[in-house]
Amino acid sequence: MDHSQPETIESWLNWKWQIQNRIKTQEALSANLELTKEERSSFDSCSAFFEFSVTPYYLGLADSKDPHCPIRLQIVPRQEELIRGPFEKQDPLAEETHMPVKGVTHRYPDRALWYLSHVCAVYCRFCTRKRKVSNSFHTPGKEEWNQALAYFRSHSEIKEVILSGGDPLNLSNDKLDYLLGELKSIPHINQVRIHSRYPVTLPMRIDSELCSVFKKHFPIYLVTHFNHPKEITPLVKERISLLIQKGNVIVLNQGVLLKGINDSAEILKELFYGLTAIGIKPYYLHQCDEVWGSSGFRVEIAKGVEIMKQIRGKISGLSVPLYVVDLTGGGGKIPLPSEYLAEKTDHSYIFRNYQDELYEISY
Ligand SMILES: *Cc1c(COP(=O)(O)O)cnc(C)c1O
Ligand code: SF4
Repeated sequence: MDHSQPETIESWLNWKWQIQNRIKTQEALSANLELTKEERSSFDSCSAFFEFSVTPYYLGLADSKDPHCPIRLQIVPRQEELIRGPFEKQDPLAEETHMPVKGVTHRYPDRALWYLSHVCAVYCRFCTRKRKVSNSFHTPGKEEWNQALAYFRSHSEIKEVILSGGDPLNLSNDKLDYLLGELKSIPHINQVRIHSRYPVTLPMRIDSELCSVFKKHFPIYLVTHFNHPKEITPLVKERISLLIQKGNVIVLNQGVLLKGINDSAEILKELFYGLTAIGIKPYYLHQCDEVWGSSGFRVEIAKGVEIMKQIRGKISGLSVPLYVVDLTGGGGKIPLPSEYLAEKTDHSYIFRNYQDELYEISY
């Protein structure tokens, strides 16, 4: 039976209904999508390692017939997930080794990443945190929060705390209000950021109550995660507008370059312009991390560099994100080479511009 259609539109727009009615089994998925033989045969072995889950809303964006649909490729398990490439790691960014207190990764001196939940509405098959996300063996509670808060208070070099997960917007509004209040009361904390994919996979989470919480703690920076223009729906547009105008939130996007999903200049231009049109500034485009089972998603760096070259200068600079790689082993993020420098002489630099013309400037 198909459980993905509610009785009323009110239920559909209720984020808790969407969470409670997530599609989690092959049987329920088959009622919505025509699965290929390969998708059917790899479903169980893949989802045993990393849970399958999708909201009715996000599944509704997928093409039921086309196995190459960019939404479908992000959510339906495929055989490649079982491959362990020679460079791939379970924890590619060494987040667990830079963990001074449980739930906090403190790699860069001035900012710390805080995992507040292991749950997401939709599990992205390329997730870097498969090792813990979806694995609800442990939900951080008040005691861990207090340890993390004590750590932030006693480390005056920390200027920013980034709420992450899993999805931090999985927490109730009361809990978020409490945590944001605590963070904002620490004098050396300059800014608070939230990393959430709910604006993409569960936009109904952004309602006026949540916006009141954000407004109270102004300014809040929210970095979301759109990967394809198909994800920018009328509901997304409406709720992002609410987030900005009622929540006073500054919204940015970090996407991932994904094979067969968005690895073309045309699709990315449409995505970046589409985001700018609804008030979201493209911040980063990530090279896909070398996590176990990600080879089916990873695009060669050379191709990524070439794609970015077709974008930089061709569309508004406001709409262009920085293409970065988070170094496997925990080295942090670096911008990928853009190869604009054609030659360096003893008195000048010669650059190749976006139209392939050479320009010489002095040191
Ligand atoms: C990505 C990341 C950050 C944030 O980096 P920005 O470049 O400031 O966006 C902070 N801490 C960790 C551990 C990260 O991986
Ligand atoms: S939303 Fe982020 S943390 Fe959650 S499954 Fe997707 S990539 Fe992983």
